[in-house]
Amino acid sequence: MKPWCWYCNRDFDDEKILIQHQKAKHFKCHICHKKLYTGPGFAIHCMQVHKETIDGVPNAIPGRTDIELEIYGMEGIPEKYMEERRRVLEQKNQETQKKKQNQDD
Ligand SMILES: [Zn+2]
Ligand SMILES: [Zn+2]
Repeated sequence: MKPWCWYCNRDFDDEKILIQHQKAKHFKCHICHKKLYTGPGFAIHCMQVHKETIDGVPNAIPGRTDIELEIYGMEGIPEKYMEERRRVLEQKNQETQKKKQNQDD
């Protein structure tokens, strides 16, 4: 499966780029601009260093803002979302195959 960001549903060519993206977009402290590695790490940083509570992951799509989830790259994504993703990709594959078949006719 191609690397993708659970928080914003974007595709990436490389998991390293995905991790950089998550650090820069989703786990970056808005106060001191430090980049953290995970949601909980980010929340703990803000709590301990700035005495601030983080309600949700920044730049995430609605419903994917859970700061408690420890997601790093593609690790830690809940299985139900992985399954959902697989289904969506399969559907896309089938659609492109159908299109190809139609073009061949
Ligand atoms: Zn993202
Ligand atoms: Zn900070």
